[in-house]
Amino acid sequence: MALIVQKFGGTSVADAEKIKAAARRAVEAHRAGNQVVMVVSARGKKTDELVALAAEMTDDPPAREMDMLLSTGEQESVALMAMAVRELGEVGISLTGAQIGIRTDSSHTKARIQEISTERMRNALDSGQIVIAAGFQGVDPDFNITTLGRGGSDTTAAALAAVLEADVCEIYTDVEGVFSTDPRVVPNARKTNRISYDEMLELASMGAGVMHSRSIEFAKKYGVHLRVRPSYADGEGTLIAPESEEDAPVVTGVALVKSEARVTLSDIPDRPGVMSLIFTKMAARKIPIDMVVQDVGSGGIAGVSFTVPESDLAETLTAAQDAVDELGSGCVRSGTNVSKVSAVGVGMRTHTGVAAQMFMALADSGVSIGMITTSDIKISVLVDRDDCETSLNTVHDGFALDQVPNCAPIGQDNADTPTAATAREDLQSDIVRRLASMEDIVVSEVQLDTEQSRVTIRNVPDDPGVAAKIFTAAANGGVMVDMIVQNIGTSDQAHLSFTVLRKHLDNCIEIVGKVLEQWSETELSFDRDIAKLSVMGIGLRSHTGVGEKMFKALADTDINIEMINTSEIRMSAVVSADAGDRALQCLHGTFGLSD
Ligand code: ASP
Ligand code: MG
Repeated sequence: MALIVQKFGGTSVADAEKIKAAARRAVEAHRAGNQVVMVVSARGKKTDELVALAAEMTDDPPAREMDMLLSTGEQESVALMAMAVRELGEVGISLTGAQIGIRTDSSHTKARIQEISTERMRNALDSGQIVIAAGFQGVDPDFNITTLGRGGSDTTAAALAAVLEADVCEIYTDVEGVFSTDPRVVPNARKTNRISYDEMLELASMGAGVMHSRSIEFAKKYGVHLRVRPSYADGEGTLIAPESEEDAPVVTGVALVKSEARVTLSDIPDRPGVMSLIFTKMAARKIPIDMVVQDVGSGGIAGVSFTVPESDLAETLTAAQDAVDELGSGCVRSGTNVSKVSAVGVGMRTHTGVAAQMFMALADSGVSIGMITTSDIKISVLVDRDDCETSLNTVHDGFALDQVPNCAPIGQDNADTPTAATAREDLQSDIVRRLASMEDIVVSEVQLDTEQSRVTIRNVPDDPGVAAKIFTAAANGGVMVDMIVQNIGTSDQAHLSFTVLRKHLDNCIEIVGKVLEQWSETELSFDRDIAKLSVMGIGLRSHTGVGEKMFKALADTDINIEMINTSEIRMSAVVSADAGDRALQCLHGTFGLSD
């Protein structure tokens, strides 16, 4: 007998007909011999309406009372759902977060789950009932009602699936599944059959439209297989699961974040502690930093750029000016009207030339690239907002994402292979052990890579096609390029740094040197011996402060950071070769990992 968690979002329970349809799904699954736990959101726009009501009372509603209010939306849904289930001849029992025993901390309106007791749910399931759990809510140690943050029902579903060791967690929603990109911008976007947790997390901006990223982090941590399915049809949707053992597509999806602003701190000192100071200032003002790039300094000065949501620009500029004042030198500039386009795919790890292909597609459409940052499974570029839709379309077409991916067919689900079963057992004991810190930040690994060299090109012209020419030549010459960082320089030029396998360095310098002959102002330099450190984990996205911690730890150990790039699930820094081991040790210490 399988245990299935079925989560129904607000649109899937908006009215009586939809509630009845959801109840039918659960009853069908139950009659097919499964134990069924439903997790239900508030109906339609209910939560928004409650928020608006509160605003009519006061400009500053107490967070505790907001939780008391908002939790009623889900309470209404579960009661109605239980009635609908009973009408179909089965017994459903509605339960609030407190009745289930979803213990959270006391941070009202954004509480984190600490513990879930399964006893009451198990008893109900064993006696043949359908459990109907209110999403989004829990209870703190003093029995105050808490909520998990907007969109939190996904997290409730993933968490219940984890503790109940569910076979699958189905997320019923108003879309067909996860698409290769936003179908509203790219009409030939395709539904993806399967996507890995990391891809989904890296596609955050796009994935967030479908699911709450905390729920994906949860699912990844506990190996919960999620299936996003349409509630209005019988489609199979998209399976979000561990990476397939078989061949995976090089690029799974492309995403757009439209309203970004760029902040650049240039002419800042190139010494230990500088990045730490800047990021501490940002963290103090709770500024959600997105892309971070630091390129290699020259003559004792360095530069760093990052992007923030456009609405946070003013606050960010104040914090940046603060940092520059404290550093005693530097200059703050910003750029508005920019957007971020990212291509994501686990197959990138084993294919060369993916970045070149993306840059080429953009060049062919005449799009100029501002900043660049990469992770092992993601390439992000910053472009003018006027070019953002063209960029998304051209990159989507460039990777032929409108077609069935060119790779070995991937099985629906390999959850039942013996290795997966053993892995699941290990995970279960892990859950019990770590339940108390279920939603804590998990930096799972710090990696030290000492096999790379760094190449830097200063004064790269700000014209379409420059990055494309450089990286195509490198890929054609068999050079394995790893981390890429492009930062905005002064005037119309950029600085580009990247790492390559040391054994490819000489070849790379020769090839790239030739390409650069056409731009007389460029300066090529390299460092054969560098160390690259990556902090990886899940929760990097929903927990701010990982970068702050990382840079502080390196500063306290007196290590200078030469190059930085970040993605949703990885932060990388390049330091000098002789500092590599020290840096690894200090980061292990900082994040509580043993050597
Ligand atoms: N009802 C809550 C919200 O609208 C939780 C959810 O739908 O996931 O944010
Ligand atoms: Mg929702």
